[in-house]
Amino acid sequence: MREGIYDTVIVGAGPAGISAAIYAVRKRMNFLLVSESVGGQVLTSGDIENFLGYAEIDGVQFVDRMVSQMNHLGIEPLLDRVVSARREGDHFLLETLSGRRIPTRTLLLCTGSEHRKLNVPGEREFTGRGVSYCYTCDAPFFRDAKVAVVGGGNAGFEAVEQLLNYASEIYLIELGDKLRADEILRERVLKDDRVKVLLRTAVREIRGDASGVKSLLLEDLKEGKLRELEVSGVFVEIGLVPKTELADQLDVIKNEKGEIVIDCNNRTSEEGVYAAGDCTNIFAKQIITAAGEGAKALLSLYHELIYSRR
Ligand SMILES: Cc1cc2nc3c(=O)[nH]c(=O)nc-3n(C[C@H](O)[C@H](O)[C@H](O)COP(=O)(O)OP(=O)(O)OC[C@H]3O[C@@H](n4cnc5c(N)ncnc54)[C@H](O)[C@@H]3O)c2cc1C
Repeated sequence: MREGIYDTVIVGAGPAGISAAIYAVRKRMNFLLVSESVGGQVLTSGDIENFLGYAEIDGVQFVDRMVSQMNHLGIEPLLDRVVSARREGDHFLLETLSGRRIPTRTLLLCTGSEHRKLNVPGEREFTGRGVSYCYTCDAPFFRDAKVAVVGGGNAGFEAVEQLLNYASEIYLIELGDKLRADEILRERVLKDDRVKVLLRTAVREIRGDASGVKSLLLEDLKEGKLRELEVSGVFVEIGLVPKTELADQLDVIKNEKGEIVIDCNNRTSEEGVYAAGDCTNIFAKQIITAAGEGAKALLSLYHELIYSRR
């Protein structure tokens, strides 16, 4: 270990980054875990029913357990955003929003993903005032309300299912001509006559006033006609975008979906830069896979540090 330079810095404390940190402690590495928040998407994932060992656990409770495990092992994440990453000779230099400069021999990107935006007028203006990207957080605010969910995949259907506990009418808006959610979810949701499906429909504008969202301007793509739909809430569930700004700064190769390309040992195209979890091109974006990938990435970079001259 060289003085003043970390063996590795793990960016992102979702399941991938936390899992990597746990392995880093056990390897007695000189490392730092830096993240804007602890828990990542798990904080908003609601009930989790597919993690080994838990028949059912709430996302927030799951994060509490990860935090307890970190406390137990003495892992103290630095709560900060890494805004830049560059190579400096034989190491990397990271800079954070608060102005910290962090030198490290290797870098493990566990930066996850974020919700894709509609990019229509009104979306930004009404975010938090009727426009939501988190049905588990915001569905209870729409008791007896008329709302829309944009996106006919699993996430959209899960949002509708959650909203059925509160809303009076739910419009499920899908751009394509098919609903893509799992059969079981479709059956459960579509049998409720409060759910109305609008296929081949695009949201063109979100309209409202000082009190929040009032309506959506929709385009029927088959007829080419515009119409206004009165709703007080809109839940956007049209997929996730990997967070890869740091990878971009380091010229790491990405695929056509914008995901960081890794090999089976979590190495990226740039020597010394590793990645794990939702920001990468792995097939299944889940908590269990993120955790497994984080562990594997850490062991992989540890192996390289020990057996190479880096
Ligand atoms: C609504 C919802 C429900 C879900 N339900 C389930 C489920 O039931 N079961 C399941 O297995 N999976 C579920 N998932 C998916 C699961 O949450 C993700 O696959 C998993 O969290 C990915 O983990 P990750 O560590 O790769 O990234 P994330 O969880 O996205 O964590 C990334 C972390 O990196 C931080 N970060 C990013 N960029 C920077 C930066 N520049 N500087 C510092 N920090 C940074 C972020 O703040 C965040 O804390 C769900 C996801 C959502 C959104």
